[in-house]
Amino acid sequence: MTENNQPGNNLDPWYSHYAERAAGLRASEVRALFAVASRPEVVSLAGGMPFVSALPQDLVINAMDQVMVKQGPTALQYGSGQGVPALREQILEVMALEGIQANADDVVVTTGSQHALELVSKLFLDPGDVVISEGPSYVTAMVIFRSYQADVDHVPMDEHGMIPEALREHITRLKAAGRTIKLLYTIPSFHNPAGVTLSWERRLEILAIAKEHDILVLEDNPYGLLYFDKPAPDAMRSVEEDGVIYLGTFSKTLAPGFRTGWALAPHAIREKLVLANEAAVLSPSSFSQLVISEYLATADWKEQINTFRGVYRERKEAMLSALGEHLPQLEWTNPNGGFYVWVTLPEPLDSKAMLPRAVKELVAYTPGTAFYGDGNGRQNIRLSFCYPTPDQIRLGIRRLATVIDGELDL
Ligand code: PMP
Repeated sequence: MTENNQPGNNLDPWYSHYAERAAGLRASEVRALFAVASRPEVVSLAGGMPFVSALPQDLVINAMDQVMVKQGPTALQYGSGQGVPALREQILEVMALEGIQANADDVVVTTGSQHALELVSKLFLDPGDVVISEGPSYVTAMVIFRSYQADVDHVPMDEHGMIPEALREHITRLKAAGRTIKLLYTIPSFHNPAGVTLSWERRLEILAIAKEHDILVLEDNPYGLLYFDKPAPDAMRSVEEDGVIYLGTFSKTLAPGFRTGWALAPHAIREKLVLANEAAVLSPSSFSQLVISEYLATADWKEQINTFRGVYRERKEAMLSALGEHLPQLEWTNPNGGFYVWVTLPEPLDSKAMLPRAVKELVAYTPGTAFYGDGNGRQNIRLSFCYPTPDQIRLGIRRLATVIDGELDL
């Protein structure tokens, strides 16, 4: 590999041996700061950790216990590369809540939806291909796309999600430049990091544009069921079966420690996805899948999702009212679900330059630049309300106001 792929990394004796694709695997510039930000005295509005303490432990202990009683060694054995059949059937019930009708044959269980992103990228992306995504977009999806040496092209969004007209323009420009567009990656509901939701009309329009240009849609929907007032529009996959790979996960509606998610693929793709899954992990964790299956069969999982909604709704309200009180000069999105608020800072503030000062004031956020591959986002920050308590959120926003007011006074 060429030496410019790992700048400044020449303490590593294997430096010149890495494959080209390893160049995409670079620690973000803010990673070191986040190590500091994980100190207990820092209020972190940076991470996206679900508040798993809202899940009663006895529900999990009971499911684990029952799995061992009923399944014994099977739960500890390798399993199918596609996933446990009973769980795949239950996943259909989960997806039906967002309007999806499917066959369990087309569900592939993965090690979190993160792993499904990896597998889809492995199947479809060649060096130099383009993935279109919203701008901003989910950091770790972009890390994967880049590790397959694809370029991410950001289409702007507004409070109703990706702007279809802008999508058309981007496709036209990319095609005129001779680029191959392989995937349209979208997080339509309660976007990470923007907090907005793609309207129903736009879902249909974007699907039509993708179809017209023969582009596969990758619909990533980890937050769809975590709405606050009214449900998000039905999933894009509910109206388009052949042109969409849909990704779901139990990470936010149950717990990420199970590392269990899934892909619902067009039938033609399903087989390749299973083969890629087997090549990568042989089979996703039997134990996790069986515990989740038992939990879904015996616990009131819909009520548990309601509990999570209540927790996150209260935290979002704490965040928005604290922003209104302490930082009225800022603009922010008002998410109707999920974990994140996207804030726009006034000129001339720079979210990345400001972060060390924020950490010094014992509050952390994620600078907007992390969510773009092209240097944009300096005027934005992502605030997560999922993990800190409402009191911590209020304290964090007060501290942030001290930092921002100080910057504006300079
Ligand atoms: N996609 C998005 C948009 C996410 O926010 C996350 C988690 N932060 C994931 C995928 C990965 O989730 P998991 O692997 O836990 O299912």
